[in-house]
Amino acid sequence: LIRSVAIIGSGMSGLTAATRLKDAGVSVVLFEKSRGPGGRLAAKRVGDGAIDIGAQYFTIRSDDFREFLDTYAGKDCYAQWDGKLRYQTPDKRWTAFRASTRYVGVPRMTAISRALSAGLDIRFETRISHLARDENQKWLVFDADEQVEGHFDAVIVTTPPAQARDLMIDSGLDISLQDPVFHDYPLQACWTVAARFSEPVPFDGDGLSAEHPILQWAANNSSKPGRASKADGGVEGDWWVLHARADWSEMHQHASADWVREQMLNGFAEVIDAPVRAEESRIHRWLYAKTASDQKAPGHRWYPVLRVGLCGDWLQGGRVEGAFESAGSLLDELRQRGAIR
Ligand code: FAD
Repeated sequence: LIRSVAIIGSGMSGLTAATRLKDAGVSVVLFEKSRGPGGRLAAKRVGDGAIDIGAQYFTIRSDDFREFLDTYAGKDCYAQWDGKLRYQTPDKRWTAFRASTRYVGVPRMTAISRALSAGLDIRFETRISHLARDENQKWLVFDADEQVEGHFDAVIVTTPPAQARDLMIDSGLDISLQDPVFHDYPLQACWTVAARFSEPVPFDGDGLSAEHPILQWAANNSSKPGRASKADGGVEGDWWVLHARADWSEMHQHASADWVREQMLNGFAEVIDAPVRAEESRIHRWLYAKTASDQKAPGHRWYPVLRVGLCGDWLQGGRVEGAFESAGSLLDELRQRGAIR
């Protein structure tokens, strides 16, 4: 029976796995390289408010996901977003998005990860560099300063695939070379700009998916529920979040932030066909943002001899709900094998 697990990463998949394992009576420690939980459920602070710079919204297709959120995060930390979303057809006509119920964290995406992390043992600002076995065949996890961070029966890696592969290689584990999974479901880059416009942006909608060589997505963050206006102590003006296309972001991964920002803001003006000017902006480069392939992924990986598992959105078709499902399918396998209760 597995009694202790180290989980690397505290995004939606790591938090789900930790919560479920804790419920099963397993002792869990999460290691997170950033200062807070959430991973790509991310928000950037501006003034007293925050702008969602990672996942823009999420779906709740399964009752299981809803029950999990309501039980462990609470109904108050997320809400339906009724934003009017439009996409551009190849001949540049604007069309309504497929009807779907979309949700966001309130007052920011990270409200969910913050709530889920309460009561979990998370070591922040701890980047795990490699794993090694101790004399009892338990896992030692090492941080970037070569400090040992404990002895565990099993390790679950929830980082994007390229980082998971590096961790395996640096730990001398051959699975990184033998298992094609690390290559088959890559995540692609995404340059992100959050920009504040003092005048309402002249676009008939709250979010858009564009046919444009640079810009892929734009959304009015201020249209989401619970984002306080300046008068209520929130951000001033309308903040829009712009995401560049994956191919453009990959090509310009190493370009200067100022140049990228200008290209993206100009692209936005072109897409909405209006000469809008941002009052201020923030920029963020995601090296690993969204899945590149629509191929059906295996859900998770468990290497029983090593007692190492992988889960994350990339193993379950991308998306926040996919990250949740991936952790769930890994735990199902552990239960079926009798490794946990
Ligand atoms: P992550 O959230 O990436 O978690 C991995 C964690 O591991 C991170 O916190 C990272 O800091 C940590 N980590 C990495 N390496 C180490 C290490 N060596 N040691 C310690 N910690 C480490 N999904 C949707 O459903 N809808 C959307 O609209 C949407 N839009 C998106 C837009 C953008 C720009 C981005 C970036 C993502 C978007 N997504 C969207 C995808 C969604 O955010 C992800 O599917 C989901 O958040 C992934 O969760 P995860 O736990 O699998 O991975």
